[in-house]
Amino acid sequence: MPKVPKVKRKITFIVLHYTASKDVSAATINIWHKQRGFREIGYHYVIRENGTVEVGRNLNKIGAHTRGKNVNSVGIVLTGHNSLAWYPSNKQIVAARHLVSAIQDTYNIRDSEIYLHRELGNTSCPGRLTKEQILAKPKKKKKRKKTEQERADEVYRRYYKGKIDNTKHTKKESSVISYRQMSERKKLWLRLFPRK
Ligand SMILES: [Zn+2]
Repeated sequence: MPKVPKVKRKITFIVLHYTASKDVSAATINIWHKQRGFREIGYHYVIRENGTVEVGRNLNKIGAHTRGKNVNSVGIVLTGHNSLAWYPSNKQIVAARHLVSAIQDTYNIRDSEIYLHRELGNTSCPGRLTKEQILAKPKKKKKRKKTEQERADEVYRRYYKGKIDNTKHTKKESSVISYRQMSERKKLWLRLFPRK
């Protein structure tokens, strides 16, 4: 995801849109908007169906996406909605969450300052996208369970640093690793790296 820059323009809220088209690039939207008489693409960010975030208009420039509400806002568009059956893809929703959250952090924007286009104008945009989907905080990646090999490598490293030693251990060490843990790890290590 592109880094959200801190620009001089006063940014106080975020507006979400859909393109009402098939999945298209920021470059294509740029062409469309120029044809409509804009200087360039009106949105600041474009979120593709596969979750890729593309940069549109420079954040420092006022966008062209929500009538009367462009001066202090960021316009984000999700590609799609070429039919009424459209739903944003999960990857798009996740990307939107992360992008919105990054913009909120950079510009100190509260959740109440995140809008769907339809809340600010007479439009159905952005279709079935809901604010709950955007406001669900990005999930932190769960720590992957270590494989047996990785655990063994860890034991191996500790063993060689003298951190695991069944004959002597300091108070400090025993508070970190119990006897049982130590002997278990040693057993595991010996099983994976048997002494010849
Ligand atoms: Zn819109």
